[in-house]
Amino acid sequence: MPMAEHHGEDCCVKVAVHIRPLIGDERLQGCKDCVAVVPGKPQVQIGTHSFTFDHVYGSTGSPSSSMFQACVSPLVDGLFQGYNATVLAYGQTGSGKTYTMGTGCKDGSQTGLIPQVMDALFNKIDSLKHQAEFQLRVSFIEILKEEVHDLLDPASVGKVEVGSGHTGKITVPGKPPVQIREGSNGVITLAGSTEVDVSTQKEMAACLEQGSFSRATGSTNMNNQSSRSHAIFTITLEQMRKLDTVFTADGVPIEDMTEDYLCAKLHLVDLAGSERAKRTGSDGLRFKEGVHINKGLLALGNVISALGDEKKRKEGAHVPYRDSKLTRLLQDSLGGNSRTVMIACISPADINAEETLNTLKYANRAR
Ligand code: ADP
Ligand code: MG
Repeated sequence: MPMAEHHGEDCCVKVAVHIRPLIGDERLQGCKDCVAVVPGKPQVQIGTHSFTFDHVYGSTGSPSSSMFQACVSPLVDGLFQGYNATVLAYGQTGSGKTYTMGTGCKDGSQTGLIPQVMDALFNKIDSLKHQAEFQLRVSFIEILKEEVHDLLDPASVGKVEVGSGHTGKITVPGKPPVQIREGSNGVITLAGSTEVDVSTQKEMAACLEQGSFSRATGSTNMNNQSSRSHAIFTITLEQMRKLDTVFTADGVPIEDMTEDYLCAKLHLVDLAGSERAKRTGSDGLRFKEGVHINKGLLALGNVISALGDEKKRKEGAHVPYRDSKLTRLLQDSLGGNSRTVMIACISPADINAEETLNTLKYANRAR
């Protein structure tokens, strides 16, 4: 697979903050807004702390509707040049990650970033169809307790019971778990997860919907665990460019110069809730889950901070991708030639101030 060229100084991670409005529950509780945006600047203040990011959206920062254009659209364009990319939504449960990404079953399923990615992707393919042939594939997986689950597993379609009070995805006995593999070329693949070939936007939207539904109603939601899992929607774009025929000096066309193959993928990640694990229950079970999730978020923080440290990077410092399934899976799409955007989602409510501060600190470390 041909590698895209390095695209210079803008290879590090871009960080945006998305402040959602106060929601019903918070209003009912009489919460106050404790997050301020410095007018005209991508700067957020909470208490005595102040942080500057690449962009700030919502609560009188830039309008949320401009987030796709500024943060994600360049990554979609990059796919057509062969650059892998990753968009990460980070934040505590209830901060708006699912709404922002559009991986929910209702909210944001029209306005979230993924539906906008689809629009842009199919528009671009349409405008380029005379120059190239395209093939799109999607996968949708969930990482829970360091295990990878297939959200598009055809065996589970139609087996989801809704409204019975005891909803759960029926797992197929003997189905081997999804394995993360690294090819000799450094390309990461998932063995045992469903990859769906899609040729229309409708088909792609159906995959998003199916996986979102599966996540919301599947076995992992039984103990309200969906907030503890990372959901990763991956779009792979393959293209065969129809280049102008190249002729030798004698006017003979050179066959193998007439086509050019590129393949790139975009991961859209709705991360697990970043809130601190609280030790509840006597069996310590929930605590163990918390530890696992922290493993992914902790490793991600370490990877991104290592990538952002230019001095360390130039010295060829170790980037700890292998420390979690999440970073392992994203390995070929974080750093190197790939583009990464982290969207730190926060609630403006004073009752969430401590977690909001944690989120801003985590995001600040990524820059
Ligand atoms: P998370 O995925 O981080 O747990 P959600 O995306 O589920 O959070 O959002 C929590 C609640 O806040 C939902 O009811 C959602 O509709 C609402 N919400 C989130 N972001 C926004 C927003 N930008 N505008 C309006 N409501 C929002
Ligand atoms: Mg969510």
